[in-house]
Amino acid sequence: MSVELMRKAGALSASGFSVINLSAGEPDFDTPEAIKQKAIEALAANHTHYMVGRGNPKLRELIIGQFNNHFGMERCADQVIVTPGAKFALYLALCAILNPGDQVLVPTPSWLSYFPMVQCCGAHPIEVPLSPSNGYRLTVGQLESLMDSRVRVLLLNDPCNPTGRVLDAQERAEVATFSRRHPDVYIVLDEIYSQIVFSPLPQPRFPNCDELEKRLVVISGFSKSHAMTGWRLGHLIAPQAVSDAAYKLFTHTITGVSTFIQEAATVADAPSVRAELNQHLERYKNRRASMMQFLSSVPFLDALPSEGTFYIWVRLKRSDQTAKTFCAECLEQTGVMLFPGHAYGTGCEQYIRFSLALAEGKMAEAFGRLSACWLRGESYVR
Ligand code: PLP
Repeated sequence: MSVELMRKAGALSASGFSVINLSAGEPDFDTPEAIKQKAIEALAANHTHYMVGRGNPKLRELIIGQFNNHFGMERCADQVIVTPGAKFALYLALCAILNPGDQVLVPTPSWLSYFPMVQCCGAHPIEVPLSPSNGYRLTVGQLESLMDSRVRVLLLNDPCNPTGRVLDAQERAEVATFSRRHPDVYIVLDEIYSQIVFSPLPQPRFPNCDELEKRLVVISGFSKSHAMTGWRLGHLIAPQAVSDAAYKLFTHTITGVSTFIQEAATVADAPSVRAELNQHLERYKNRRASMMQFLSSVPFLDALPSEGTFYIWVRLKRSDQTAKTFCAECLEQTGVMLFPGHAYGTGCEQYIRFSLALAEGKMAEAFGRLSACWLRGESYVR
């Protein structure tokens, strides 16, 4: 959310209007009960000392077991590093791979931190602007057209923030082809939203691609799937050489994630936790249906049906305004905060990222205010 919009929202609240955030980047749900309970028990049992190494062994076993199932690989727990959030896992992986002057291919629209993170490593992000005209599909032709001997990483986000797209079978095959042709390029795959999908992701993710074993780095974590954004818990899984290089940096900077937090996450796959996560997913599905219905009633908006994440990517079909001014005006008139998409990449100036991470009652209230304003010209804020 831009600083300017935050300031406007703060001023509105101060004058007594209730502001509704329809653009949240984190689940509105609470962390599953069993995880909270396990953290309390871990504290009571004094799991409060240093945990030296790559992370809690039981947690790493859980992570690598799931990874091997999802990717059809046989990696070991020593290839996992448990990090404070997926964001740091990604930074660590990029630091381990990149040298100053290297290049990273980043398909856009993409998450806002990718470009600055690559730059922090002294490398150059190269935008691969995907086109809305073919539903933002990634093609090997487009990747090849930007290839250069300095490219060391292809950075993918699946499902994608902000478009909500999931790679289809053709795109997975094209990534595999690209990887076969370019053995010096690592595929860094950010899967932070992989458990928030409306149809299951394929297993293995990249069929018939043994080469990826040597080149695939996967970033993920518990923030979005388990509503644990504030706990800061993520991980990377990398080929041994990359994992070892990342571990050197990790051990001399972070040392390790809080011991009791790692202990708490060892129950992340317990049946009661799974049951809560399934309920969250059902609610996201229902919210997505109501949001798509609402958006289809607004003639100047065009929504891309999302396949995963809790975002909906929407085009503003108006030539008199950019999404940025539209969102500012919307906040002033309705008290509803929307997130303009200009920062997600070239050509995103007319896009808005809506979020499903809002309780149903609040969401209905937001739709009511927006309909009143956009369809009947009535303002909530007077
Ligand atoms: N990757 C993507 C695509 C995200 O959208 C986010 C958070 O918004 C992250 C990574 C960061 O996750 P974490 O909070 O675990 O650091």
